[in-house]
Amino acid sequence: MEAIATDFGIDQALKTLGVKELNNGTSTGSDNFSNGEIIESYSPVDGKLIAKVKSSTREDYDKVMDAATSAFKTWRDMPAPQRGEIVRQFGNKLRELKEPLGKLVSYEMGKSLQEGYGEVQEMIDICDFAVGLSRQLNGLTIPSERPGHVMREQWHPIGVVGIISAFNFPVAVWSWNTALAWICGDVCVWKASEKAPLCSIACQNIIAEVLKDNNLPEGISCIVNGDYKVGEFMTKDRRVALVSATGSTRMGKIVGVTVAERFGKSLLELGGNNAIIITPTADLKVVVPGAVFGAVGTCGQRCTSTRRLIIHESVYDKVRDAIVGAYKQIKIGNPLDENNHVGPLIDKDSVNTYLAAIEKAKAEGGNVLVEGGVLEGEGFESGCYVKPAIIEAENHFEIVQHETFAPILYIMKYSGDLENAIEMQNGVAQGLSSAIMTNEMKEAEKFLSYAGSDCGIANVNIGTSGAEIGGAFGGEKETGGGRESGSDAWKVYMRRQTNTINYSDELPLAQGIKFDL
Ligand code: NAD
Repeated sequence: MEAIATDFGIDQALKTLGVKELNNGTSTGSDNFSNGEIIESYSPVDGKLIAKVKSSTREDYDKVMDAATSAFKTWRDMPAPQRGEIVRQFGNKLRELKEPLGKLVSYEMGKSLQEGYGEVQEMIDICDFAVGLSRQLNGLTIPSERPGHVMREQWHPIGVVGIISAFNFPVAVWSWNTALAWICGDVCVWKASEKAPLCSIACQNIIAEVLKDNNLPEGISCIVNGDYKVGEFMTKDRRVALVSATGSTRMGKIVGVTVAERFGKSLLELGGNNAIIITPTADLKVVVPGAVFGAVGTCGQRCTSTRRLIIHESVYDKVRDAIVGAYKQIKIGNPLDENNHVGPLIDKDSVNTYLAAIEKAKAEGGNVLVEGGVLEGEGFESGCYVKPAIIEAENHFEIVQHETFAPILYIMKYSGDLENAIEMQNGVAQGLSSAIMTNEMKEAEKFLSYAGSDCGIANVNIGTSGAEIGGAFGGEKETGGGRESGSDAWKVYMRRQTNTINYSDELPLAQGIKFDL
């Protein structure tokens, strides 16, 4: 086996994170329960084998669940602000380790180094948010219709939260869930993507140290590794009160049904098919970077990546030419080199899906404006580097209606009023992110109104990708309806209890019912 890449400080980053030794198949620290088959993690950056991680068997999974369910009893007893203190310490550790962890994210997943650091910054931000929230898990006091009575609403921890995550945000999605779940008094079991297992072990090492320093059981944060089969242990397990699953709509359909069958709760964060509407008054200075970053950032592998541009016919040629021109500036290459804008796709399967989508678009009548293709030669040995493509297409094309997790941008015209563009924007099965570029106040407000975008995220004069942690994140329709991160998303990690307390000497019944004995 070839040595781990030593350039760009990756070797040192792996050492600092305590995951360097995993390239010979041994497990360390926090995945010490694992005894299953080996998952090999190859970097899409240079094609090198960077880790062999043992997956979890059913027996391993049960041991993890025992550790988690027992830790829950300790953890829920701790006052919420003290739990917040643990999350604060975790956030501080992430500050210290932002550089190595960001590098690992970039190397294992293939996103640009800046985006790798950005992902760790999101983890830090959600920790800060959760620390404040740990003093604000407030319920309500509700007026009772009965004299001498009071009603209250309280929020209690729900128990074990199972987290199933996708490859493209290999650390941030976990922290969006865990930071909130922990302050709510829950414990977490994480099944990371089998395409980025090393990131999960690095994160687990960080939190395990914080828990150890505070004499708390490691079961508060557990990981299991493996593919969908290990995910299924979780979705079928009544001990897992909430399954938070991020990934494709295909996966969400199975997970949603399986969890519902046992009356569990699920939080689904699934695929998107995000569009930007570009109106006649749109400012090109905003449109071009917004659309280009949205379409090619993370090599088109964000759930919020811009897939469609819906451009008013009066400005169509101008906008199209500006965007096609901007694509000529895009630098594709090693994502650890900060001069490059676009790194690789996650693996060769993804490359094949990308190539097939381009062929399908052509077969359906699409007109290729910027050619795609796979890059070859020095620096592209992994076979995962592709050229971002632009295709003129119709909204109703089957391929346009589907999310292809790659840098393919479909552009199309609308004519007449904004309503026509909104109809096209909403005319897909997914409902995650959307945007309008306009300087007309009425158009912006119409787009944000109940008659406008049907997505969970609707932006004005910014693109579809790059959400902040302060807002609730998620989407409608086939995106799954889940919300995580900011606003009141914490409520999904808790159970609501309504209390009625009688402090009178009588027992009046509700709705004036008489029951005289
Ligand atoms: P994927 O669906 O292939 O896998 C996601 C996770 O689900 C993995 O951990 C996988 O092992 C697990 N899984 C798959 N089938 C399962 C099953 N039947 N039971 C239990 N677990 C199962 O997705 P991916 O390729 O890793 O990620 C890309 C997808 O994720 C895209 O569709 C993207 O839009 C979506 N995504 C959505 C969001 C969001 O917040 N809405 C965020 C990131 C990614």
